[in-house]
Formats: sequence, structure tokens, C-alpha cells
Amino acid sequence: MNVILFGPPGAGKGTQAQFITEKYNYYQLSTGDLLRNEIKKKTPLGKKIEKVITEGEFANDDIVNSLLEQAIINPKNKNKIIFDGYPRNISQAKNLDEILIKNNLEIGSIIFLNVSKEIVEKRILGRITCEKCNITLNKFFDSEKIESHLCGKEFLKKRKDDNLETVITRYDTYMVKTIPVLDFYSSRNNFHEIDGSQKIQVITSKIEEILEL
Ligand code: AMP
Repeated sequence: MNVILFGPPGAGKGTQAQFITEKYNYYQLSTGDLLRNEIKKKTPLGKKIEKVITEGEFANDDIVNSLLEQAIINPKNKNKIIFDGYPRNISQAKNLDEILIKNNLEIGSIIFLNVSKEIVEKRILGRITCEKCNITLNKFFDSEKIESHLCGKEFLKKRKDDNLETVITRYDTYMVKTIPVLDFYSSRNNFHEIDGSQKIQVITSKIEEILEL
């Protein structure tokens, strides 16, 4: 079944989506990754996207929606999608409902990873991502894993938008634009909340329980 992982930037959505994806052969649909792929292509569209992401603002809904729809309708991903970072505002939430209906798809679970602003800052400021395998580690908490990282330490890079100024903007944008999505979903009977400040493995087990994996 398809799953929405919901929460502020730095809640651990990407980390959890990666675990579930690898272990159970899901497809991680990260709109952040799709946008970063466009940036890598260095197209005029990629340059526009880079500017908004670097400033901590949201990318334009039409761009994100079109990238998203291409991934959803790919038959390879049918009923195996973990939405990571989408929807981020009410208009995207409504758009997702429409695309799902149009393609005869459903969301099995909506999982909210709840974490405080203080934790978000610590996690994001220490976050490093491998350019090769896309794994995310934290330079404050994961020194052993960093030392033994198979692709090589030199591929672990900080994201351009993971600096204090941008983190503050991203959190404020989350509070204004994304929190209403929480109200949109929280009364649905497939909505679940997990304390996202717990250890990674504890959160993974809770997600596995919810998804009955
Ligand atoms: P993430 O990788 O989810 O932290 O996203 C990184 C950045 O990509 C965000 O701060 C936004 O600028 C942009 N982004 C990702 N997903 C969306 C979305 N659903 N709508 C608009 N912008 C997005």
C-alpha cells in the first residue's frame, strides 16, 4: 500500500523512507530528490529550482506536481510508494487526492513524524548525504558510520540548503504552509502519529507495525 511520511524538515522522513524502501522494495518518492535531480541537469528549469531551494522557499506547485505525477503513474511503483516531502501545502494535498482517484490508487497509511524545532535544527545542521548511494548520516551522531562508509567519506556532502539561515526559513514555511495539511489528514482513520525524536530503529519498528510489514 502507498504511504505518506509527513513531518517538518529534518523529522527523519528520508531516513525512514530509505530503510523501508531497501527492506521491503518500496519506491521512495522524494520530491526534494526529484527537484535536486533537475538541478543536476543544469537546465534553465534546474537553475530556477536551485534558487528557491537555496533560499529555503518551496518550488512552484506546477513543477513539483508534474514531476510527482510522472513517478506515480509509473506502473513499476504501483502501490509501493512512500511519499517523502509531498504534499507540503493544501493545494498539493488536494492534487494528490485527485491523482490517486484518477489512477485508481489509495493511501494505506499517513504517518506523521512529530519533532521539535530544536531537534530539527540539530539534525539538519549535521546532515551529510552520500553523492553516490544517497544515504543520509549526521556528522554529530554517526562518526563510526562515517568512518566505515563503503562509498568513501569523500562522497559525504552537506546539502547547500542545510545552513542555519535556510533552516529557519524552511521551518517557518513548514509552520505556515504545511501544518494546515496536518489538519487536512489528522481526522482520517489511517492517520498515525509517531514521536520522531526517538531512536531511528525504534521509529522504523513503529512504522513496520503500522504498515504490518
Ligand atoms: P527535502 O529534500 O524534502 O528537504 O526538500 C528540499 C527542498 O526542496 C525544500 O526545502 C523545497 O524547497 C523543495 N521541495 C521539496 N518538496 C517540495 C514540495 N512538495 N513542494 C515544494 N517544494 C518542495
